[in-house]
Amino acid sequence: MDIYSEINSFLQKQDVNLVAVSKTKPVSLIQQFYNKGQRIFGENRVNELVEKHESLPKDIEWHMIGHLQKNKVKYIAPFITLIHSVDNVKLAKVVNKEAEKNERTINVLLQIKIGDESSKTGFDYEDLIEQIPYLMSLTSINIVGLMGMGTFTNDKEITQQEFGAMKSYFDKLKATRFKDNDDFTELSMGMSGDYKIAVENGSTMVRIGSLLFGNR
Ligand SMILES: *Cc1c(COP(=O)(O)O)cnc(C)c1O
Repeated sequence: MDIYSEINSFLQKQDVNLVAVSKTKPVSLIQQFYNKGQRIFGENRVNELVEKHESLPKDIEWHMIGHLQKNKVKYIAPFITLIHSVDNVKLAKVVNKEAEKNERTINVLLQIKIGDESSKTGFDYEDLIEQIPYLMSLTSINIVGLMGMGTFTNDKEITQQEFGAMKSYFDKLKATRFKDNDDFTELSMGMSGDYKIAVENGSTMVRIGSLLFGNR
């Protein structure tokens, strides 16, 4: 069995979605994974995302997973399926405005700062709590969950602890602010090196690049 089928069957058993992170990889390689049945691809640069969206089949679901600049939201707003990386209120406001212009609702995840070095962006959980009422008042974005990036480390204890914290933030929000919101279901965490730990800790969506496509 190839690595793609192996990862896929592991994730399907756990009911976890696979975002194939294709950043820096050519369209021809993405097409190969599309042919195997993969439909969700993640990118972290707007220009690259737009180009790939134009040249690949239209039933691909594109996810923006990287830091997003406000002035670039307009380029992806017409087609993006999910933005994982809404990490501040101003960005949320711009996404909302661009969604409105395109007469659509854009699904977003709120990115939480969990690790130290590797994830400098993201909301502090305590700040986020205060901002939630305002974020929920933005009617053209749909907050479907949280995203977090663990510290880049081989120390499984650290990863375990960070993903455990993410899960408890998710559960707390789900039980309180999002109690009446059936769309708040996704917890995006886990990459090539730590996706199994993420799944053990309740991830519903892993973002895997190098393990599928080779090193960048
Ligand atoms: C690049 C990237 C990934 C995938 O990383 P791999 O280690 O190659 O699996 C996941 N999430 C984000 C936000 C990324 O930028």
